[in-house]
Amino acid sequence: MTKPELLAPAGDLTRMKYAFAYGADAVYAGQPAFSLRSRENGFKNLNDLAEGIAYAHEHGKKFYLTSNVIARNTKVEPFQKALLAALELKPDALIVADAGFVGWLRKVSPETEIHLSVQANTTNYLTAQFWHDLGVRRIILSRELRLSEILEIKERVPGLELEVFVHGAVCMAMSGRCMLSNWVTHRDANQGACDNSCRMPYRLYANDGPQSEDYREHEGNFSLQRTDRPELDPVALDEDTWGTYFMSSRDLCALDVVPELVKGGLDSFKIEGRTRSVYYLSQVVRAYRMAIDASYEALVAGASCSAELVPAESRRAISCVDGRGFMPGFLRGPLPQNYESTHVPADGGCVCAQVQRYDAATNSFVVNVKNPFSMDDSLELMTPSGMVACEVTELMDFRGAAADRLNPGTEGRVFLSSNVSENTQNAEFAFLVRTNTEK
Ligand code: SF4
Repeated sequence: MTKPELLAPAGDLTRMKYAFAYGADAVYAGQPAFSLRSRENGFKNLNDLAEGIAYAHEHGKKFYLTSNVIARNTKVEPFQKALLAALELKPDALIVADAGFVGWLRKVSPETEIHLSVQANTTNYLTAQFWHDLGVRRIILSRELRLSEILEIKERVPGLELEVFVHGAVCMAMSGRCMLSNWVTHRDANQGACDNSCRMPYRLYANDGPQSEDYREHEGNFSLQRTDRPELDPVALDEDTWGTYFMSSRDLCALDVVPELVKGGLDSFKIEGRTRSVYYLSQVVRAYRMAIDASYEALVAGASCSAELVPAESRRAISCVDGRGFMPGFLRGPLPQNYESTHVPADGGCVCAQVQRYDAATNSFVVNVKNPFSMDDSLELMTPSGMVACEVTELMDFRGAAADRLNPGTEGRVFLSSNVSENTQNAEFAFLVRTNTEK
């Protein structure tokens, strides 16, 4: 049994560094024009990519270049040019979705490792074998597969690396091949510009006037019913104060499936979310790092495979981030999506500050405040080496004045009990987490 790789999203250089600090073995990132993240993408040019790749390699990690846009004719040549320039930077692999580009890359750069993107929708062993025969080293499997199907592909196509999504947002269409965003906002998901239309709130209006003046909001509970099939259950369009999220899927969280995926010999466990915050990324990477390590070590030692191998601290880390509610995706069965879920706030802990630096002279942390917190809150310092309960002895606001409370959007200084500073080797990547979340 080999320990699988933990692969994290890198929306920019900062996120990449946090992902590595919290235990990712590799990251994926791409250029805005040629990956499926055209907005909020910090890798804007070759210099950014070069810096990211160099940093990864200096730290013994891997950097995969996501180049999985679904190219039209007009994009072929610029895409080829951009790929050839990026290959000079020696990324560890290219993530590609388009069959034409796989074939072209095999000719012009046969030594380049190719990972087939999830956008190529590989769902069976025959397709997997086809791509492997063409020289594809790894396939990122379609998110719609069950665990048993994934394990069968692994068994039937030996030598092919398989990557599975374990955490993050899920499309309501098949792994991103969707035109909902094009329809609602004229932003093309398959060119990296998805507006997440399926995840947004909607309201029901009576259409009896110009939109700006006479559209009236409907009140009450609503559902959609197929008129040709009255025996089918209606689709609820229930609204709460935030609107209705009837197309939004809950987020994937495969923490409980990690031991089975490790035992099954899957090669890489992928986390979704290049635009998520550094805090979210750090907590999620931490959760899966602990789950993979604990599962692997227990299985190698002969333990029986069960969800109990996942440490409680992994679950706690996930409970400290916001989401849309979690589900184990299609891994466990045919009905993973719940279109009623809306925003589900973290209930295990709430980030209150991102540490900028530790000042040894004053034994204090300079922080960027993310959520309000005060002297009497229960806080933990989160670092790449673990969580440490801490006691605040003094707070200082951005003017350097003593304060009872720090407010978001400001810089402040936090003085903590001395045992905390002794435990903090890497304040650069630390956060303060408030554990009394009911506040
Ligand atoms: S609109 Fe939703 S389902 Fe469609 S590509 Fe975007 S996130 Fe995926």
